[in-house]
Amino acid sequence: MNILNYISGKFVEPESGEWLEDLSPATGEKIALIPKSNHHDINKAVDAARKALPAWSSLTNLDRASWLNKIADKLESKYEEIAELESKDTGKPISLAREVDAYRSVKNFRFFAEMIRDIGVEKYEMEDATNRVIYKPVGVGALITPWNLPLYLLSWKVAPAIGMGNTVVCKPSEMTPLTADLLMKTIDEIGLPKGVVNLVHGDGIGAGSPLVSHQDVSLVSFTGGTSTGSIVAKSASSSFKKLSLELGGKNSSIIFDDCDLENTVKGVVRSGFLNQGQVCLCGSRILVQEDIYDEFIDKFIIEVEAMKIGDPSDENTNLGALISPEHLSKVEEYIEIAKSEGGTILTGGYPSLSEKYKNGNWISPTVIADLDVDSRCSTEEIFGPVVTIHKFSTENEAIDIANNTRYGLAGSIWTSDLEKGNRVAESIHTGMIWINTWLHRDLRVPFGGVKDSGVGREGGKWSLSFFSEAMNICTKNK
Ligand code: NAD
Repeated sequence: MNILNYISGKFVEPESGEWLEDLSPATGEKIALIPKSNHHDINKAVDAARKALPAWSSLTNLDRASWLNKIADKLESKYEEIAELESKDTGKPISLAREVDAYRSVKNFRFFAEMIRDIGVEKYEMEDATNRVIYKPVGVGALITPWNLPLYLLSWKVAPAIGMGNTVVCKPSEMTPLTADLLMKTIDEIGLPKGVVNLVHGDGIGAGSPLVSHQDVSLVSFTGGTSTGSIVAKSASSSFKKLSLELGGKNSSIIFDDCDLENTVKGVVRSGFLNQGQVCLCGSRILVQEDIYDEFIDKFIIEVEAMKIGDPSDENTNLGALISPEHLSKVEEYIEIAKSEGGTILTGGYPSLSEKYKNGNWISPTVIADLDVDSRCSTEEIFGPVVTIHKFSTENEAIDIANNTRYGLAGSIWTSDLEKGNRVAESIHTGMIWINTWLHRDLRVPFGGVKDSGVGREGGKWSLSFFSEAMNICTKNK
């Protein structure tokens, strides 16, 4: 299967004639060839987006909302196909791809359609004048996404970006191109005006970098690793592009001794290992209050070892494969570092799977205890099925440990004392905290991180604000 770029309403081969391989994380087999695009393809895509901008931005919000709903309807008719492609491309379990990826991709379009339809008139009256605030498109947007939640994150950007009247060039991860391609086919089938959404496949250096630095790109929405985010920020800031960076995380789950232990263990297993621990929000540092430390560990290990790992297409599978051999090596390296730092591996190793999976990227969920709270494995983002467990005694100690990383994305707190839960939450330096739950998403709330986890917020009205330029028109009336 050859995947193509989508530029100005046409599926086209890369200018270079060069291709990259898309490999199955579960088996190592080749799934597809994708364009190894370069600045020539980017120039064409940006040009197409620039030409489409005047007509698209002059539509009403209602018109654009109706286009978003058309995309949602068509995507919904491909719900199962989205789940199958995502599971195949990322190695994640099919049930997760269905419940999380397919569900949210459709919902993102519907959610932003509704938000955009509801944008009202914003006025500020003065004694002698009226201020009217309008929201104009920014221009051509560059939307760059990672491999862990491919269509979920791409749709999270495309919907508000085009909904607010921008036109876009998307650059999905080279490791997971399949559902991005499905979205382009969907957009093509419903007849969205050509050039409004363009997509260029390829790697970061060849395609991502010239897209970010392109002089006709006015906005960059980037989700990915912190070190890449820093390169993107430098390139975007030299020409004052509007910039949103959703980057890495090292999130704490803080477990107080008054928590509902059964519920907490289930929640913390989910937050530690969902998508093989490859979610930026995953709780990979587990802080447990001393009185329940041993009991928590016993129950936690039982639940972790009960997870079924293997065939991503099996409905009963809980954990699939990691994205790539390189990523598996990185995770293995961290486990070796943990051992050298004095960590005890409470559970881990490799699953025993059939011959079919011998070239896949497999590792069992790994739980490490006895590490210092400032050890590398406890403070650096591993982004795999590896968690570290630490003991704390007081509320303040838990807060200090949770804040002791360069990241500040999310976290969770588990307690029956909601006043304490809220008090502790307010002291944690992150963009988001859940109390007695994890990844419980309301799309209206702000999403994003502080410190090395990013700059800016997306979600609800924050996305609408990022993907537009607010303008004030003041009319003197006396
Ligand atoms: P990555 O930074 O390697 O790649 C992300 C995207 O950037 C890919 O499309 C890649 O091709 C592109 N890219 C690479 N170099 C580039 C460059 N120089 N210029 C422009 N684009 C470039 O990240 P990844 O490995 O795909 O994803 C994993 C990371 O993403 C983790 O750190 C994870 O925490 C983070 N993430 C964050 C969030 C969030 O919302 N905060 C969500 C998902 C993933």
